[in-house]
Amino acid sequence: MATTIEIEDTITVGALAERLMIPVTKLITELMKNGVMATVNERIDFDTAQIMITELGLDVELKESAHESEAPKREKPKASAKATSRPPVVAVMGHVDHGKTTLLDAIRGSSVAAKEAGGITQHISAYQIEHNGRKITFLDTPGHEAFAAIREHGAQLTDIVILVVAADDGVKPQTVEAIRYAQNAGVKIIVAITKMDKEGVDDNRIKQQLSEHNLLVEEWGGDTVTQSLSAKTGKGINELLDMILLVADVEDLRADVDVPARGLIIEAHIEVGRGPVATALVEAGVLKPGQFIVSGSTYAKVRNLETDNHKPLNEAGPSTPVTITGFKTLPEFGDEFMVVNSEKAARTQAENVANMRQTSSNRGISSNELLRLINRSNELSELNLIVKADVQGSLTSVVDSLATLNTEEVAVRIVSTGIGSITDNDLRLSKTTGAKIYGFNVVAPSAIRQQAVRDRIELHLYSVIYELIDDVKSELEKLLLPKVVETDLGTLIIRGVFNTTKTNVICGGEVTIGKLAVPAFARVKRDKQQIMEVELTNLKRGPTDVKEVLNGEMCGLSIKTSERLDLQLGDRLEVFSREIQQRHL
Ligand code: GDP
Repeated sequence: MATTIEIEDTITVGALAERLMIPVTKLITELMKNGVMATVNERIDFDTAQIMITELGLDVELKESAHESEAPKREKPKASAKATSRPPVVAVMGHVDHGKTTLLDAIRGSSVAAKEAGGITQHISAYQIEHNGRKITFLDTPGHEAFAAIREHGAQLTDIVILVVAADDGVKPQTVEAIRYAQNAGVKIIVAITKMDKEGVDDNRIKQQLSEHNLLVEEWGGDTVTQSLSAKTGKGINELLDMILLVADVEDLRADVDVPARGLIIEAHIEVGRGPVATALVEAGVLKPGQFIVSGSTYAKVRNLETDNHKPLNEAGPSTPVTITGFKTLPEFGDEFMVVNSEKAARTQAENVANMRQTSSNRGISSNELLRLINRSNELSELNLIVKADVQGSLTSVVDSLATLNTEEVAVRIVSTGIGSITDNDLRLSKTTGAKIYGFNVVAPSAIRQQAVRDRIELHLYSVIYELIDDVKSELEKLLLPKVVETDLGTLIIRGVFNTTKTNVICGGEVTIGKLAVPAFARVKRDKQQIMEVELTNLKRGPTDVKEVLNGEMCGLSIKTSERLDLQLGDRLEVFSREIQQRHL
């Protein structure tokens, strides 16, 4: 009997291969045979998927599922009848520079914004505050569009999204994107209209703009709650917090506490002396030090359980952001964690996941790498890179952003990725693969930098992600075949031929259209026929060399030819310039 799989109206090539349980290379090859040059992350539509299944002769019936949201939904653990009330988990989203960090700062009462390179929140973290004796958990969601990957995950963790819109700037592309994410993920939106302290701003204008994007505010008969505020003066922030608690009450957020603790890893990095350190959000149950947890292909005996500001915790219940140490290897951002009974259970489960991931490891190869493997004649120019970053979240963001630069002509080929400073190993790998090293928020010890200079290894370090992306983009642009641009200049009629050699003609003529300039090229035409393409090397007016001759003027000229050219009176020279232009992505 045929297996039935349900897909939405589109599905990524990678996801389809996974659902069909076939190697993604096989699917890509089949697509190519059918003239579809899709890469792993590209979406194909239902009909194409159907054709592929038939072509591959698979016994699978494809059904279109009810329209699903674009952001991958991850169900929060279902609460039972005994579940108790839990704090809301809130993320702040919005357009860059609209004041997300400043607002989160004002709420937390610290000063993170000033410390951040380029003013952009670099990776996700979380903290909890108390308002009116009740707790609220904030996810410090990154703002720049390069973090779209993280933001998608962010939306899944969240109960409420604070959509920040600056009163002086209004609804912008990333505001719209955030609205879409939140709506798709079924998350409640509270709009914070910020920067109300600025002169001449009008929050009604923003409400009007929001209504154009399906968010009709309460006072106009809709159900979108808004709060006008200033993160600078603090005015309106208490009201915003009240509103969060109100929305949380309406949503009746609950979680079970008498179940094995589980949640999500939202950040992970390695700290000297502490090993892998993960930030996680407990979603259900109560996590305690000494418990065994498994997360993806790694596990831990929870050594230190701490708050976001490193205060030790004896236990952490639902909606609590925690820092965990004790993992054997770095857990992955976005992976779930779960408490299990014993170390043995933790180890076995982690090993199973590791094995599973190994077998589907094709997913780790970049799409263009796959194309290259399948079709070696494919004339793809690749830029080999080694990418290092401080934490898993940033690394994912960098790698995801780099992947968006790929085209059919040029592509980034990531030879290796890693977390932590640049090492000897990276240099060695760079030498053997010719890869350039790009580090984000990491350091290179001076010995390493010196070695890199000696070995002529390109080593670039950044603290602002889009600068890294921009630089890689210009490197890729250098690999693009340059564009030849020809511009017509003018036409000349030959009125005299003075000297002809095998590769040169000295002649004279009259400019009848446009103007001539040197250096330039010309098509020599007799009647309608093109005889040869030549190069103009010199122009003379009387005895004087000139750079330019205008319409209606007579001139002498030297022509360079590839073979002997017997020019005749009345021949036409259509003169054009030829420029090599660097193309852009
Ligand atoms: P983000 O990119 O959304 O995190 O924006 P930031 O928090 O970094 O803020 C961008 C700029 O707007 C900074 O210069 C802030 O000082 C400024 N800003 C943020 N909130 C306010 C506000 O309420 N009033 C005024 N006047 N400026 C603000």
